Amino acid sequence: MPHEPKRRHSKERKGKRRASIHLATKNGIACPNCGTLIMGHRICEKCGYYKGQLVKTIKVKKDLPAGKAGKSAA
Ligand SMILES: [Zn+2]
Repeated sequence: MPHEPKRRHSKERKGKRRASIHLATKNGIACPNCGTLIMGHRICEKCGYYKGQLVKTIKVKKDLPAGKAGKSAA
């Protein structure tokens, strides 16, 4: 029979332990073209530029016109 904890840890104790558990912010650089925070040595996902050259065309999602959007709702 395995050993069991004698007392349960309080909410405070649990909270104190987990206070340091969180996701770290990603390291990134600002895109020279648009200024978005991107990962180094990678194509900018916002504008498609890499090393000052356009290497990938990014398709921009267009919002539906108000008339068409209202049709599906009503
Ligand atoms: Zn960019």
